[in-house]
Amino acid sequence: MLYGGIEAGGTKFICAVADDKFHVKEKISIPTTDPQTTFKKVFAFFDQYPIDAMGIGSFGPIGIQPDQENYGHILATPKAGWRGVDFLGQMKQRYQVPTAWTTDVNAAAFGEIKQGAAKGKHSCIYLTIGTGIGGGVVINDEVFQGISHPEMGHLYIKRHPEDTYSGTCPYHKDCLEGLAAGPSLEARTGIKGEELPLDHSIWDLQANYLAQALMTYTLILAPEVIVLGGGVMNQDHLLKKVQSQFTELMAGYMEVPKAEEYILRWGLPNESGLIGALLLAKKELEKNNNRNLS
Ligand code: ADP
Ligand code: ZN
Repeated sequence: MLYGGIEAGGTKFICAVADDKFHVKEKISIPTTDPQTTFKKVFAFFDQYPIDAMGIGSFGPIGIQPDQENYGHILATPKAGWRGVDFLGQMKQRYQVPTAWTTDVNAAAFGEIKQGAAKGKHSCIYLTIGTGIGGGVVINDEVFQGISHPEMGHLYIKRHPEDTYSGTCPYHKDCLEGLAAGPSLEARTGIKGEELPLDHSIWDLQANYLAQALMTYTLILAPEVIVLGGGVMNQDHLLKKVQSQFTELMAGYMEVPKAEEYILRWGLPNESGLIGALLLAKKELEKNNNRNLS
């Protein structure tokens, strides 16, 4: 069997083909330009292989209800030219194979639970802290989607009394993403996140905001583990700060594992989404085969 996987991001599409053992045969990175040019390159890559199933983890928001007209489409993205693009439809038309369709972060959560930091668990949350903040959820080994996919980056958190920063979210200004995604680090300090000194006071604020969000997710979903990824989590010291602030905020209210065992860094750095997409391709093929049998 050959599986195709796409982690479709706002800046690049990572495409790969893997065999049954999930050994990647070939992988490419395509810059996300206009849809037509981007898909031309995506097709040129996958056309080389007799793919049996495909998995797509896409930037959102996306339509995920099979009975809705916008199923498989990119919805209200600020990314020029991409709103309304029938991503899944185009892929299915070209390859006519079972195709899994979910968000990049849901795919990443699936990758992490099957092969990454959450391996062996049956539920997890994956949160990326990068240009934006987004989360994916796996429950009972299935990617979770309801009326839509989770949008875990846009919840409100309690602002620190001394924090006067207005926030970067174009929709809500000071939601979690607005206050704690990568760009907020630079907007507050004038220094890019990757260049900020380790002893800068902003890291405590950053950890506090993330810990508040993780507390909310925990209270609502109580997953077995939370996995953190994205550019900002390259800061080694930040994870410890988040873990200790989380413990403090929870205040012993709920029985949770030790924070060091509960809040983990991604096990598949920069690859969780792609590997998740490949794994979802296999799952989709199996689902399809079972449907045909019954
Ligand atoms: P994207 O979210 O676009 O996929 P990343 O996950 O790499 O990409 O996130 C990019 C954001 O993370 C930028 O705002 C960048 O400044 C920030 N970032 C990247 N590396 C670091 C780092 N080592 N420390 C702090 N912030 C970082
Ligand atoms: Zn927001």
